[in-house]
Amino acid sequence: MNTTTTDNVDLAELAKFNSLASRWWDTEGEFGALHEINPLRLDWIRQYVKLAGSKALDIGCGGGILAESMSACNATVTGIDMAEAPLAVARLHQHESGAEVDYRRSTAESLAAEQPGEYDVITCLEMLEHVPDPSQVIRSCAELVKPGGHVFFSTINRNPKSFLFAIVGGEYILNLLPKGTHEYDKFIRPSELEQWARAAGLELQASIGMHYNPLTKKYSLGSNLDVNYLMYYQRPASE
Ligand code: SAH
Repeated sequence: MNTTTTDNVDLAELAKFNSLASRWWDTEGEFGALHEINPLRLDWIRQYVKLAGSKALDIGCGGGILAESMSACNATVTGIDMAEAPLAVARLHQHESGAEVDYRRSTAESLAAEQPGEYDVITCLEMLEHVPDPSQVIRSCAELVKPGGHVFFSTINRNPKSFLFAIVGGEYILNLLPKGTHEYDKFIRPSELEQWARAAGLELQASIGMHYNPLTKKYSLGSNLDVNYLMYYQRPASE
């Protein structure tokens, strides 16, 4: 695929999400996996943070699956994405659902210049593997979060097993995701994510794997980070 890069944005990646945007809220469609995993990841986040009354930012929010669910937990949510079509879908969807998310077209980097230290909770899920320089997004999260605030990332590990499970299995055998959703080279090892986050001044609090069982067709959380995983960081309260 031909890739053009402006800022820290991969235009070919945005084109993929723009072209599928109308399907975002179809639980049986291309984004069905995000609907399936959302309750699990939301519960995991809520183990650590109280969303009610918090100011939350969802980076790479797409059609708003996580953003809406955090709003339903009474967080004040801003959702940012660089693809226009998913944002349009997100804005339309909240008219039906009654969610109140402030959706904006922005990169994490430019929002960080505008609103440093504004957010109690930042989520950046299934997004880092779609940007040219994920370390820059992580740095921006560290700038956007309040001292003492919380940052959650999720992405896909890079090793032969994750190639087999996430790309061959997920896209070509089980059709959990559209073909071409992920590029192996963009996958991120937990050790890499940790290095970038630590360099940005964030402190690791917890991590967990997200597993799919093809027999039961169910997702679950578990200790193995080999394929999909989440990591939870905190910005130190005093610097
Ligand atoms: N976080 C959502 C959607 C994941 S799909 C969820 O987990 O439910 C990845 C999203 O990241 C897409 O909507 C895509 O448009 C967005 N994205 C890709 N590059 C981006 C960038 N540089 N800045 C902001 N959003 C980006």
